[in-house]
Amino acid sequence: MADKKQSVAFIGTGIMGAPIAGHILDAGYPVTVYNRTAAKAQPLLERGAVWAETAADAVRGADVVFTMVGYPEDVEELYLAGDGLLASSKPGAILIDLTTSSPSLARDIAGAAAVSERTAFDCPVTGGEAGAIAGTLTAIAGATERDIEPVRALLETFTSKIFCFGGAGKGQSAKLANQVSLAASMVGMADALSFAQQEGLDLAQTREMILSGTGATGVLASLAPKALDGDWKPGFKVRHFMKDLGLALAEAEERDIALPGCDVAFTLYDMLDAIGGAELGTQAITLLYQEEAEAVAAGLDWSLYTAEHEHEDGCGCGHDHGDGHECTCGHDHGDDHECCHGAGHHHEHGEGCCHGADGE
Ligand code: NAP
Repeated sequence: MADKKQSVAFIGTGIMGAPIAGHILDAGYPVTVYNRTAAKAQPLLERGAVWAETAADAVRGADVVFTMVGYPEDVEELYLAGDGLLASSKPGAILIDLTTSSPSLARDIAGAAAVSERTAFDCPVTGGEAGAIAGTLTAIAGATERDIEPVRALLETFTSKIFCFGGAGKGQSAKLANQVSLAASMVGMADALSFAQQEGLDLAQTREMILSGTGATGVLASLAPKALDGDWKPGFKVRHFMKDLGLALAEAEERDIALPGCDVAFTLYDMLDAIGGAELGTQAITLLYQEEAEAVAAGLDWSLYTAEHEHEDGCGCGHDHGDGHECTCGHDHGDDHECCHGAGHHHEHGEGCCHGADGE
């Protein structure tokens, strides 16, 4: 006789959650879904998922609960509120947070679950929208191999690799390490394309050449074509990447360590956010290096880059670095340094800044 499939509740059916829930459905698990905006769950309902009016209703009878929402605040509210998932799920339920969120919050949730006879662990993923659609994500579990055994088959419906980091919160820490690496790759892609453009090279050929050697990155492979085609749709939203870089920088600050590459990436994404790019895909970082007309065509507005992003020590990254902070880009900009290597837009600034703190 075939094994009875666990019943699944899935909360958060956005860019990542919808295809992931789709794979679980396709594997024959009964799935109940809830999303803040109901319309985004509709295609799953047409494929056999059951709608619940609230998150609490969705999880009540479920053996396994997945959450894939936006921010740590969403996760905290969902799990820990009085009528939250820990209170509404049944004793014995396993709750798995796929959101990229805070390590300390993941530890709090796992602890609260343990005292209420549930199991909860963090399990962020990497692989992007394409990996979610293909069912080839990498799962990054804040749990042991033994902890995930009861849900391994379920995780395998949408992943091709599972890494177990051994304890609550460590999945989130490992995912943030991934985002720190991604940050440098994004800046590397944007710098390289801008440099090649200024040198008059064929950009597609340059990308292909870099991909054939040690400069190759996943970002150049998957996101550079979108940037070259002027496709700014997310994928992975700028505002979510800023959330991740902010989480990594906060962890680093707590441990008193420097992440200069991450700092520079945050500065650039902060600028993109300020000029209206929060909902674009992360590949839109390349627009910061382009003529203003291209940015305007993508819906950006440099005039939004206001004094609120300027502060006295001259850096635009939004962090309080303390006295004597110097720009992390390592260049002596001199008095007439132009933002983002002078590649085109109209920002010039005086001194001491990486990439444009003195906006206009
Ligand atoms: P998204 O499209 O914004 O999806 C998040 C979904 O969660 C939205 O549909 C949102 O509802 C829903 N939601 C938020 N709070 C909720 C709540 N309290 N109850 C019910 N639903 C709620 O974002 P995404 O791209 O799928 O990313 C989700 C998470 O995965 C983020 O933490 C992101 O950093 C991470 N991630 C993303 C990627 C990627 O490439 N996109 C890759 C790896 C990890 P609304 O529809 O009402 O907004």
